[in-house]
Amino acid sequence: MKVLVADDSLVMRRLLESTLSGWGFDVICAHDGCEALRVLLEPEAPQLAILDWMMPGMSGPDICKEVRERRTSGYTYILLLTSRGLREDIVEGMGAGADDYVVKPFDKHELDVRLRAGRRIIDLQQELLRVQEALREQATHDALTGLWNRASVLETLERESVRASRERRPLGVAMIDIDHFKQVNDQHGHQAGDAILKAFGARLTETMRPYDFLGRYGGEEFLAVVPGCDAAGLNSHAERMRAVVEAQPFVAGGAEFRVTASFGLSAKHPEEPIESERLLRAADDALYLAKRQGRNRAVYLPPQRG
Ligand code: GH3
Ligand code: MG
Ligand code: MG
Repeated sequence: MKVLVADDSLVMRRLLESTLSGWGFDVICAHDGCEALRVLLEPEAPQLAILDWMMPGMSGPDICKEVRERRTSGYTYILLLTSRGLREDIVEGMGAGADDYVVKPFDKHELDVRLRAGRRIIDLQQELLRVQEALREQATHDALTGLWNRASVLETLERESVRASRERRPLGVAMIDIDHFKQVNDQHGHQAGDAILKAFGARLTETMRPYDFLGRYGGEEFLAVVPGCDAAGLNSHAERMRAVVEAQPFVAGGAEFRVTASFGLSAKHPEEPIESERLLRAADDALYLAKRQGRNRAVYLPPQRG
């Protein structure tokens, strides 16, 4: 674990550096307050800091205040190192945002246990962030396919429509539905159906650029939001998707399945602002036509004038 040691005394820096390195820390040293603050505000800053109270440039408590105010991601556990052991000093230091303090000259065992306490807090905080991230993933993604879920892809469509309208750029939308999927379930069971849905999503993803969005809209329906893509671009993208689905059979439960899909397409004209609902409705109507015209095809409909 990285730790920042900030002290204007070379002797103290050397002493702390050798002690902390001996305990397995990766020590970064700063010799004044401004340098310490700069290090602590970097993106990959150490999460643990031992700051001297009195330093040129900025004092330990001032650095605490700045870090608490300006660092928005990740917690920095700050230990103030001070020769001022008075109660009011400690109150001031902790009031400025320090987590703990050690009085100089420091006792190695005391420093050791105080750093352990700091590590526990940092570990807990990281666990909290991990859980938060997992919850966010669960709330925004479809559990089976790992794609964006319906709410997220609709939110994306809304955001991209507003952006495309403002920037006078095109925006393509494709509503994608697997053909005769009920038969797969009826004949081979739900598990085979699930495996195919997952593989289908992965195959479509292969055709996407990093800034395209693909979500599971519901059951065996998917929605692709393609920023910057006009009608012609969307038609060729849909053809790539259609071809990649049809090209190889899907394998589930040891059996092979030939799968096709139908595509309903619509795109925003660069110069015309649009609401997401109109694009979605046109793509939905186009999908209906694609089914009616025999499936395994893409149909484009322009959005209705609002
Ligand atoms: P069409 O070509 O007209 O789209 O026919 P279809 O059979 O695909 O359409 P329909 O809407 O009649 O049936 C969709 C089927 O998709 C019904 C359901 O069994 C299946 N399905 C929906 N969600 C899931 C899922 O999460 N897992 C599995 N295995 N099947 C699903
Ligand atoms: Mg000093
Ligand atoms: Mg279907």
